[in-house]
Amino acid sequence: MPRPSDILRATFGYHAFRGQQEAIIDCAVAGGDALVIMPTGGGKSLCYQVPALVRAGVGVVVSPLIALMDDQVAALRELGVAAAALHSGLPPGAAAAIEKDLIAGRLDLVYMAPERLLGERTLELLQVAHPALIAIDEAHCVSQWGHDFRPEYLGLGVLGERYPGVPRLALTATADGPTQRDIVKRLGLNNAAIFTASFDRPNIRYHIQQGDRMRDQLLDFLDARHRTDTGIVYCPTRRRVEETAAWLEKHGRVAVAYHAGMPADQRAANQRRFLREDGLVMVATVAFGMGIDKPDVRFVAHLGLPKNIESYYQETGRAGRDGLPANAWMGYGLADVVGVRQLLANSDVPQERRRVEQGKFDALLGLVEITDCRRQALLNYFGEQMAEPCGNCDNCLAPPATFDATVAAQLALSCVYRTGQRFGAGYLIDVLRGGDDPRIASLGHDTLAVFGRGKERPAAQWRAIYRQLVARGYVSVDIEGHGSLRLTEQARPVLRGEQALLLREEATAIARRRQKRAGGGQAAVPAADQALFEALRAERRRLAEAHNVPAYVIFHDATLAQMAAERPQALAELAQIGGVGAAKLDRYGADFLVVLRTVANS
Ligand code: ADP
Ligand code: ZN
Repeated sequence: MPRPSDILRATFGYHAFRGQQEAIIDCAVAGGDALVIMPTGGGKSLCYQVPALVRAGVGVVVSPLIALMDDQVAALRELGVAAAALHSGLPPGAAAAIEKDLIAGRLDLVYMAPERLLGERTLELLQVAHPALIAIDEAHCVSQWGHDFRPEYLGLGVLGERYPGVPRLALTATADGPTQRDIVKRLGLNNAAIFTASFDRPNIRYHIQQGDRMRDQLLDFLDARHRTDTGIVYCPTRRRVEETAAWLEKHGRVAVAYHAGMPADQRAANQRRFLREDGLVMVATVAFGMGIDKPDVRFVAHLGLPKNIESYYQETGRAGRDGLPANAWMGYGLADVVGVRQLLANSDVPQERRRVEQGKFDALLGLVEITDCRRQALLNYFGEQMAEPCGNCDNCLAPPATFDATVAAQLALSCVYRTGQRFGAGYLIDVLRGGDDPRIASLGHDTLAVFGRGKERPAAQWRAIYRQLVARGYVSVDIEGHGSLRLTEQARPVLRGEQALLLREEATAIARRRQKRAGGGQAAVPAADQALFEALRAERRRLAEAHNVPAYVIFHDATLAQMAAERPQALAELAQIGGVGAAKLDRYGADFLVVLRTVANS
């Protein structure tokens, strides 16, 4: 039997296992069952690909996402691995050819959806073909406790009886305690070893900004850090998806849209472009992203608020799977807080479910408004303790200023109360600033004690104060859907002067610039290597088009970045770069050396 570490080096071109990969692989090679819980980008695929190559027979991979199997198979073939996918989209005759290869023992790995695997014909084929192991990806789909239950996964419980002695690996990025136990039970895993990796994604830098002109701030951020990078921008509504994509295009970006309201073929075409092209910005609703394992997504941005921390973490987790620095950026304002609150209040789910959703949204608001380490808060939410602040989030890098907002908050709250708890923030601010909304005079609100009392603060500051009061639960948003603000029980002690209140100082333009310098996004490649890196990417693009595969299938950004830093000048040196295995060295080594040598000689 070949050794796992030899396969890691020769086939995948990597020099060391990450985290628990080695232990998991040893377990599978020895024939044991395992449940693997690892965050997105943690490196789950190698955990079954390596043992499939070590053990005799074919590795069977069960995955729910037929649309993405072909790209996974293409990536493996580039590595010189004999891989195939059995699915309903195959051209005529292709399935029969794959079945023949299976029986003849010519395949290292075969991917299929659960319903395909569970067909009697496939089950019998595999009896002949001798599986090396069975890997069940997205294993949380088998559990009703998970967030994406798929009934066709339930049938996978039979595999243990059908193929005794064949190790089974269940893998997922999201499963809490009850879901984990449920997966083991429903899949009938035998004495499964459970491997849980930390949820931390240290290469992702978190930034969360507040304000009223978030689109402009997003563009500033992209211009400063991600001029040519691939990324995803999540928007809360289909309309905002389309507007934002068009707006980015107008500002010189290549952007495409994706949401459930688009025709299916256009959606598929845009997803394909995102996977294949370099430097494309995907603007999407949360309908986009499941199963996308593009390794070189350099940023994930949220315009507006996700519904809960789980979604936020899953969506931002799509950045930086290759381990290089990546940014997660979010921008939101008062209107977004009010918008999600109204959405939750008006949804027609049962009362109990609604309370859970509202509780989860409150936890998210806590995260976005905190003034200390974001990563500590995130990990804490998932039950992990982190002893020290991370040093790699906006709050760690540029601690936000706070101010004693007790008096301002009293004024803001009493304005809500005095006007009858029937108005939204816009009107309330107009009253505070002594504005000329015609309703003010006609309702007699210009005779209130609060009228004009807040003149010295600009409207933007008042919006920030109301936003934070809503986020912290002093003020609630009216259920009826008009977005008017009401006081909660919590507001009382503040109004009575029994409680002091510290709020986040809203970043002024100057403070923002300072923050940008101190805690701005991180670049994946140092400036000195940037030109060579771009030249290598151009070469990769050329080869990807010639071979009709996604660019990252040729080499990942991490590999090109290392080439740009170390500038190898010979094939033997190139072979030392992470991600350059034997097959790729053979196929592409010479082409990349030409680029590396040209630059060295110029
Ligand atoms: P997951 O499925 O857990 O989200 P992947 O299996 O797609 O993660 O791996 C994420 C990225 O990390 C991929 O680009 C993969 O090539 C890379 N990777 C995985 N293991 C290693 C390793 N030991 N050394 C270097 N890169 C690795
Ligand atoms: Zn931090």
